[in-house]
Amino acid sequence: MKPIEQSFSVAYTYKLHFTERLFDSNNPLFATIFDGYKKGKRIKLLFVIDDGVSTNHPNLLDDIRTYCSAYPKHIQHTESIVLAGGEECKNNYESVERVLQGINEQHIDRHSFVVGVGGGALIDMVGYAASIAHRGVKLIRIPTTVLSQNDSAVGVKNSFNIFDKKNFLGTFAPPYAIINDAGFLRTLEQRDWISGIAEAVKVALIKDADFFYFLEKNAEKLKERLLEPMQYVIYKCAEMHMHHIAQGGDPFESGSSRPLDFGHWAAHRLEHMSNYALRHGEAVAKGIALDVTYSSLSGLITEVTRTRILQVLLEVGFDLQIPVETDEKIEDLLVGIQEFQEHLGGELCITLITAIGEKHDVNSIDKGVMKNAVTALNEFCQATQL
Ligand code: NAD
Repeated sequence: MKPIEQSFSVAYTYKLHFTERLFDSNNPLFATIFDGYKKGKRIKLLFVIDDGVSTNHPNLLDDIRTYCSAYPKHIQHTESIVLAGGEECKNNYESVERVLQGINEQHIDRHSFVVGVGGGALIDMVGYAASIAHRGVKLIRIPTTVLSQNDSAVGVKNSFNIFDKKNFLGTFAPPYAIINDAGFLRTLEQRDWISGIAEAVKVALIKDADFFYFLEKNAEKLKERLLEPMQYVIYKCAEMHMHHIAQGGDPFESGSSRPLDFGHWAAHRLEHMSNYALRHGEAVAKGIALDVTYSSLSGLITEVTRTRILQVLLEVGFDLQIPVETDEKIEDLLVGIQEFQEHLGGELCITLITAIGEKHDVNSIDKGVMKNAVTALNEFCQATQL
């Protein structure tokens, strides 16, 4: 018998919206976002909120309730769930269970929506739970940190950590929409304000020299929390990530090349080694600094270019030291290369750069040179502190 072949494709479209005072009843954006989905039908919503956001925005839950009652024809509010934010919610399966429980108890079906409000970790976890309930409940993401607004929440991936490995569980499930409200950013701790800048430096280094020069020119202003340059950085970085996902030819990452993970093999391992005391963006800044140093020791970029890149990261406020004081710890860090390969599958493929704005994939890493890169980077950091 001949095999029966079938083939179909599914088109995905979603928007990233920008606003302020999202849950002010005079702002129709949130209520009308569902118009394109089922005009005239009332949509049931389950909000899952990061406790770091609800603590710093104490009126948020009331505002959401009031907002939903102001648009009774559009949306129906159910009891919100508040969960501990940060990496803890991606490490503790109870948080996934709480979301699944809420979906079950509030009868959220595939025509209803889960709305995640929080940092990248909470958004990853909520997206994961929503994507496995009923084989996929629709999701709105409302990211509240710089990193989630400019990178993590604008893509198609949802995840949860197990076996001491970042994002071991996860799904590719695009959201229905994402809404960035700049008002949330005002309450971020300084470390969470700068964290997302690491992802902007990353995408600039692999794709867009002009964007890197903007970051270089505005590093001080960004550190000082000027909202205007930060809003540009968020917009540009999110746009570049979304463009790569849609136009890069591999939205669900079937291949082995993942340029958006420049600097990430070390970052993920360092996050784990620090027991998640390091924020993702802080670890990415170290990972970029290390791979840029490796690129320089391998002759791919000049020493001048390396120093220029490290200076920008330092000026924004990152600590670039790689915390591996012993040979054992360096070996532990290098395990990250193999883990990275396993996570992607297939041949090892690490993105480096040959110039600012020019990515370059390699299929092997010389561990001796990488160890030298760790030493050279730590020496550089010590020298700049003097
Ligand atoms: P985070 O989610 O860990 O949040 C950091 C802290 O900020 C938490 O304590 C949180 O409660 C608090 N917080 C959030 N919003 C706040 C606000 N407005 N005011 C005050 N405090 C607030 O950190 P993050 O940098 O947003 O996200 C990192 C996560 O994103 C990591 O788990 C990383 O793996 C993931 N990520 C995912 C993707 C993806 O494609 N899915 C891409 C990059 C990163």
